[in-house]
Amino acid sequence: MLSITLVTAAYIGATILFILSLGGLSNPETSRRGNLYGMIGMTIAVLATVLGPQVVTQTGLPWIVGAMAVGGAIGLYAARTVKMTQMPELVALMHSLVGLAAMLVGFANYIDPAASAHYQGAEKTIHEVEIYIGILIGAVTFSGSLIAFGKLSGKIGGKPMLLPARHWINLIGLLVVIWFGGCFINAHSISEGMMPLVVMTVIALLFGIHMVMAIGGADMPVVVSMLNSYSGWAAAATGFMLSNDLLIVTGALVGSSGAILSYIMCRAMNRHFISVIAGGFGTGGGTAPAASGDAQPAGEVTAISAPDTAGLLNDAKNVIIVPGYGMAVAQAQHTVFEITKFLREKGVNVRFGIHPVAGRMPGHMNVLLAEAKVPYDIVMEMDEINEDFPDTDVAIVIGANDIVNPAAQDDPTSPIAGMPVLEVWKAKTAIVMKRSMASGYAGVDNPLFYKDNTRMLFGDAKKMLDEVLAALKG
Ligand code: NDP
Repeated sequence: MLSITLVTAAYIGATILFILSLGGLSNPETSRRGNLYGMIGMTIAVLATVLGPQVVTQTGLPWIVGAMAVGGAIGLYAARTVKMTQMPELVALMHSLVGLAAMLVGFANYIDPAASAHYQGAEKTIHEVEIYIGILIGAVTFSGSLIAFGKLSGKIGGKPMLLPARHWINLIGLLVVIWFGGCFINAHSISEGMMPLVVMTVIALLFGIHMVMAIGGADMPVVVSMLNSYSGWAAAATGFMLSNDLLIVTGALVGSSGAILSYIMCRAMNRHFISVIAGGFGTGGGTAPAASGDAQPAGEVTAISAPDTAGLLNDAKNVIIVPGYGMAVAQAQHTVFEITKFLREKGVNVRFGIHPVAGRMPGHMNVLLAEAKVPYDIVMEMDEINEDFPDTDVAIVIGANDIVNPAAQDDPTSPIAGMPVLEVWKAKTAIVMKRSMASGYAGVDNPLFYKDNTRMLFGDAKKMLDEVLAALKG
């Protein structure tokens, strides 16, 4: 068994590695190293905890090893089988597990006679507050993440569910939770405290469901990063309950980095955090737009073939590629790289424009392009490249929709009005690759398709890009 001093030293080492890991993950070039630091840090943290004085070796170890084997096997299976397009759902599901763990640890801690005997007076009150808040955050994270999982996987529609007087319902829920918090702290026995604890848990679970159900499709990126942040705070709360400093620090790191990410996503969508929580931005998703309607500029589209696309690319000097969720679905990134390589060898200036909320998770497109070995120096962020579209011969939109929707700028009645978008229509020609006229995740029609300089290359992105590549080489 490790001494407390050794465990503390290991925890400090792990904390430093986690900070280095987060620093590394902020840049694609250092992200592999960042992941490695995280893995080493987590191994040290788990070993130090399992071999530390808090675990009663004789009875505890077999349970821990058994649980780790089962959890590790499930994790390994999920990591090997999950498709890149299912990653956001998997992440949401994992956040829900952190919330569930915080809830269970909270209840276990409360009914554990050894834990309750350990604290007296003010310390006991503080410990009970930790339990109450820990279970509260855990329950909201658990149910909210499950709904986010449902929305991201398409099992639940993207349309916001807006109950009448929903803000009042939330406010009353909050007041009831505070009231029962008082009852819980003043309870004289575990059985007396159990009732307020259970009532609060049920309200927190319902609040998590209600909060995420009310959020429209277009705000989901913020919700994903917000739940990421909540899962960090749930872990930190677990750390307080278990008096584990490393868990507190790690949870706070995840919680605060998730909060910063939520802020970045809000800025990318030109939204205020409060209005995201209030819900209702964007509508359903994945549906064909109505042929007519108030804010639905339906019209004629001009289709283009793969060989004609190759012809335009052959004649171009400046090309910007805008990837979106459809590129992930089609797994077209490798062909995209082949085409990029071919054109660059011919002297064409090919660059990528990445929207902060492209795909279904933060950094989704960067991960795919890095996997296909696209050089980092030609992958630009939206703000870096948006001004260059007027000097661009061909802008190719590969399975993107909402992030190139001019209605966000032109139509104040659009559900995504105000969201910054990549201005592909300013290029000489914009080629949009998608399978049909279906809308994107936010469920709104896209006037880009009907513009004079837009050409639609209909079909699966991988299949069509293979044909374009063949035509280029031919
Ligand atoms: P969109 O969801 O707006 O559009 C994707 C388009 O890809 C669809 O219109 C679809 O059209 C097309 N597509 C799907 N499969 C294929 C395929 N195999 N080949 C070719 N095209 C295909 O994606 P964007 O990336 O433009 O925008 C992201 C959206 O997701 C935003 O609304 C954002 O708010 C939201 N979101 C983002 C998250 C994030 O963290 N990044 C998280 C959650 C949501 P068709 O069916 O006709 O082929």
